[in-house]
Amino acid sequence: MNNNDELKTNMNTEILDIRNYYPISKLETTKTVINKPKFPVIDAHNHLGITFGGNWIHKPLEDLITVMDQAGIVSMVDLDGFEGESVFEEHLKKIKEKAPDRFRIYTGPDYSKWEEEKDNFGEYAAKKLQQQIRQGAQGLKIWKNLGAHVRDHRGARVRLCDPRLDPLWHMAAEYHLPVTIHFADPVAFYDPLDEKNERWEELHAHPEWHFPSPPFPSFQQLYDDFLSLLQRNPDTLFIGAHVGCYAENLSVVEKTLREFPNYYIDISERIAELGRQPYTAREFMIKNADRIVFGLDRPANISEYRCYYRFLESKDEYFDYSEEEIYRQGRWKIYGIFLPDDVLEKIYRKNAEKILVPN
Ligand SMILES: [Zn+2]
Repeated sequence: MNNNDELKTNMNTEILDIRNYYPISKLETTKTVINKPKFPVIDAHNHLGITFGGNWIHKPLEDLITVMDQAGIVSMVDLDGFEGESVFEEHLKKIKEKAPDRFRIYTGPDYSKWEEEKDNFGEYAAKKLQQQIRQGAQGLKIWKNLGAHVRDHRGARVRLCDPRLDPLWHMAAEYHLPVTIHFADPVAFYDPLDEKNERWEELHAHPEWHFPSPPFPSFQQLYDDFLSLLQRNPDTLFIGAHVGCYAENLSVVEKTLREFPNYYIDISERIAELGRQPYTAREFMIKNADRIVFGLDRPANISEYRCYYRFLESKDEYFDYSEEEIYRQGRWKIYGIFLPDDVLEKIYRKNAEKILVPN
């Protein structure tokens, strides 16, 4: 019997399904509890609707404001007005009208009208936007269905940089309305769903998030189309959601920020990505401190906000990026990036104050 054989016989030979494997770290390191952020925060990416936002629209607004007060959130962008005209109006009525200083409601184009409006869809969408700005819209939300699913009246997929949409971007620019755009998902969502995919568990939980190419455009094609959108519309201010949809490659995001002064990013739903590359992320955020805004993109919840604060402010090591679903986005832990105060204040609030429509 050699040493290996001896080891094997001593081991429990039961096979463990990796989906049931949740090891508890035995590291004894600092655990910083941050109840309140160092500076007041504007959450520039959140949802208060049914699909994405924990259904706050149907709960007492005072409860949401209590959560915001406890988490140090001075105001919040509610993107969910983009889900349709009646939803937009409901959010204006139930949220904006009741607490105008605490919320901004965004809207979005109704692509189902493409059938009717044909090649004039852009002009139609621009006019609609103008009307909704007069009603109280303070931003435009563009979602990943544009580029992946939206089709024109001929049945052709509409690309992000489609010139027929230019009137819409011009209208946003005319009213200094920011456009928050989520044009692509994590890179692994475009890869084959096999044992090498780092988002295997997440994609099995949400098969509708898998965009294999073909039939869908590749991640690179979406990113290139986004670059031409920025190029074509230098007067429109775009906020790239989720670290510009490319948190896996901060050098490309930085290059894009350098090239396009009309471009900002939010950090929503991406501390898992940023926190697993803490040295690069810290440098990136310090270098680009004037172009980054805070966002959660999770149903408003104190413990989720505190995870973000811990990531941004502390020097803690190897901790969970969410207190809710462990490994929601991948099997790894994160590290705090202890940003300097001036950087923190810009990301938490000052940049958003500069680019959002004033309340
Ligand atoms: Zn979102």
